[in-house]
Amino acid sequence: MKAGPKEHHCLGPSNWPAWAECPCYESTGDVDAFDEREDHDETETDWAVRGTMQHSACACLLREEETGHGHLMALTVTEKEEVLWAVQRVFDLAREHGFRPGDLRIEQRVSLFEDDLQVRYFGTCDVRFGNVYIELKFGQPRNYFAQLAGYALPDLDEGSIAWAIAYVLYARRRRQLRWHIDRETARRIGYGILRKRENPYRKPQPCSYCGFCALKLACPAINAVVEHVGQQLPAWPALPTADTSASTSDPVLMGKMRFLAKAFLEKWCKAVDFASRNMAEGGEVPVGFEKRPRKGAKLVTRARAALDALQAAGVPATALEPVLKCSFGSLVDVYREAMGVTKAQAEAAVLGHLARAGAVEHKPETFLLRQLDDAAERLLLASAKQAELFFGPNHTH
Ligand code: SF4
Repeated sequence: MKAGPKEHHCLGPSNWPAWAECPCYESTGDVDAFDEREDHDETETDWAVRGTMQHSACACLLREEETGHGHLMALTVTEKEEVLWAVQRVFDLAREHGFRPGDLRIEQRVSLFEDDLQVRYFGTCDVRFGNVYIELKFGQPRNYFAQLAGYALPDLDEGSIAWAIAYVLYARRRRQLRWHIDRETARRIGYGILRKRENPYRKPQPCSYCGFCALKLACPAINAVVEHVGQQLPAWPALPTADTSASTSDPVLMGKMRFLAKAFLEKWCKAVDFASRNMAEGGEVPVGFEKRPRKGAKLVTRARAALDALQAAGVPATALEPVLKCSFGSLVDVYREAMGVTKAQAEAAVLGHLARAGAVEHKPETFLLRQLDDAAERLLLASAKQAELFFGPNHTH
């Protein structure tokens, strides 16, 4: 059983589903891993890490390596169930196609060569046996047909297989999709995407991948939409969509972007979220969405009684310690109320008590980025000065 190298090629098939929508998309990580779970505290990076851990666990279990069980230990119960389902499904598919576990090629590199034997691209297919290619996904279902076509294209192109059978296993939904891919289709999809991606005049196309794209802050297509909002404001200085590469280094441009985001877009997003939830609550579901029941969260109302109960049931006190958390602010409020002192006195007293008990940790200082009352005027003035420097004193917007 072979394991292939994991590095990425800049034209590798893992980005093809995104390039099928926008040829300018630049990856920030594992799109598949991050999804729309609304109850998560994790960042995009956390989700990418979780997805990678699930993939590693799957790869080890499919190779029947002992380390697979170690990887499983680091996963939550739900993640573990998803991995075990995916692994079982792969073994079942192998058997259905007449293959044995020993025939599986896990994370095998596939490469497409040019006529002069230069590598056109390579990628890593999760599982391969015979003419069967399998991709394992742990996030929300997306259309991964192009990615699978990219893995099958080298073999189809050189004629070592007549057609390919491709599966995507969506572990969270316990669902699979299956396609038959012939040579013509793989060539049309594959070379079409490569041509679009390699076109020096390619244009960004807003799409379902924008939220994951490394260029989203500086993307002319996205900024054009935002600029349209800004243009509705009287005397609003335009965002220079022609050159957005300066967005992270120009404080005037960044100020305008933050102003628009805070004043309109962020609030609009929150309002849409609120209104659509209200609509669903009332029985009318917004088109394109589904209402999935979620269990109500359980609230521990008496922490001390809960911990005593678990300790009495045999859970060691040291194991319970890490879950015992309360906010500094809530302790200050309780102290104020109980001792009848001011907020400043309560803060000093609580801090002293906690420090002596070794029960407080000081986090690094952070900051707020508060909007000034005259932010719009300052931005107009700064933009006018910039324009004067650039175009000369007689320039008008
Ligand atoms: S942000 Fe721009 S470049 Fe990125 S995917 Fe969206 S449209 Fe394409």
